[in-house]
Amino acid sequence: MKITITLGFAVLLTGCAPSFDDTARQAIRTVASSSAQTVLSSSVSSESSDFAYPIARAQERVTKKHFGIYVTPSSSPVSPERFTGYHTGEDFETFPDEQATDVPISAICTGAVRSVGWVKGYGGVLIQQCAYVNQTVTVLYGHLNIDSVSLRKDVDLKAGEYIGMLGKGYSTQTNGERKHLHLAVHEGAALDFRGYVPTAKELDPWINPFPFNN
Ligand SMILES: [Zn+2]
Repeated sequence: MKITITLGFAVLLTGCAPSFDDTARQAIRTVASSSAQTVLSSSVSSESSDFAYPIARAQERVTKKHFGIYVTPSSSPVSPERFTGYHTGEDFETFPDEQATDVPISAICTGAVRSVGWVKGYGGVLIQQCAYVNQTVTVLYGHLNIDSVSLRKDVDLKAGEYIGMLGKGYSTQTNGERKHLHLAVHEGAALDFRGYVPTAKELDPWINPFPFNN
């Protein structure tokens, strides 16, 4: 099942243009959606198979911490580093000229909000539940400015719909982390907030959100 899901993402994204910006978002989403219809046999109730990028210029931003990378304070591509373990998501970096400006984040899939709040290690976090290839997943968006998120638990979100802004770097909004998006996709409906896990086996329930980046 895990392989099927990963390939499913790859098939979806093959239909996307190599460069991505806001004006192309709707077109790409439409392509992704129609591709999904050819890949997926069905979807679960209100959760659909529609997928979109969470941030403009997404493919240019995954440059430091890929899904599954093992980091320690001495080996991390980010300095300073306070975490050790296997990275459960993909990190989307911000550009230098975005440090003092708002960077909007949008939903990658269609499904209800499961959790919104401030969580140690992230700052603002929103978790959404979606379906993909008939399997329920949860999607964690980390390091948000929680004050910019007006969505609440159980609200339905569509792929591409605005969630909130990234938190200010090295502030309470990001719990001291640089300004970036941590995006993690986890199998099942259980909420798991961990950004790192200690063993490769524990990484198994997490899915690479965008495998073309690795
Ligand atoms: Zn991360």
